Amino acid sequence: MTIIASLLRNAQLPDSPTERLDAELLLAAALGKSRSYLHTWPERIVSSEAAQVFADFLSRRRAGEPVAYILGQQGFWKLDLEVAPHTLIPRPDTELLVETALELLPATPARMLDLGTGTGAIALALASERPAWQVMAVDRIDAAVALAERNRQRLQLNNVHVRTSHWYDALDGERFDLIISNPPYIRAEDPHLVAGDVRFEPSSALVAGQDGLDDLRVIIAQAPGHLLPGGWLLLEHGYDQAADVRELLSQQGFGDVCSRIDLGGHERISLGRLPC
Ligand code: GLN
Repeated sequence: MTIIASLLRNAQLPDSPTERLDAELLLAAALGKSRSYLHTWPERIVSSEAAQVFADFLSRRRAGEPVAYILGQQGFWKLDLEVAPHTLIPRPDTELLVETALELLPATPARMLDLGTGTGAIALALASERPAWQVMAVDRIDAAVALAERNRQRLQLNNVHVRTSHWYDALDGERFDLIISNPPYIRAEDPHLVAGDVRFEPSSALVAGQDGLDDLRVIIAQAPGHLLPGGWLLLEHGYDQAADVRELLSQQGFGDVCSRIDLGGHERISLGRLPC
């Protein structure tokens, strides 16, 4: 017979930077309970079935699989999102895009576009905060579109429309007040692609050519054709790409160009505005 406290004490995840948290999340999921249940009932006996599920989860985590993929879900903003291996796992740093978008535009009706939506994280977070906005979320990958649509339906966010498009390709003639994107931006040779959790994420969501700027260049160059006068473009990028992205924005005629700093102190997003 095993109890909750001893399962947690004996859970070894030496390679994880968040060992205890991972073990708690995985045990709570194996039991179908919340993390606070574990703290409230440390002496509770765990069935052998649940203990086996937990052991399987731990061995997957030891092999490097991210907790979010094992659980099939990840928190972002105030939402619980389904995640799957064909999309990026939403990062806390990306909440800076959401915060900034909420500051830029008033709560009155507006049209916004999320390019490369993946799980739908950015689009759904904005739609949940701004019921008056009409949010278009696009992704090139059909499985991502289906996933974002499932998240949209579960969260009942009827002001979001999800559809398949490679960047702007399926959006001829449509214009927005705000375009937002967390595109792939890692350099093809970046050593961080072969270590840790990102090994399990799709390279289509991470890698963008030799300098990591291939997709950002396309998104910025075509943005003026899809923004209304005075519209904003708001982009996440690599920690050392801010100056390049600001330069690309200025070259395309954007004004009010600036960058903002993420939780780790890096310039992580940049933005600009089309003249009115
Ligand atoms: N910030 C992510 C990472 O460093 C990359 C996300 C992206 O390419 N859009 O793992």
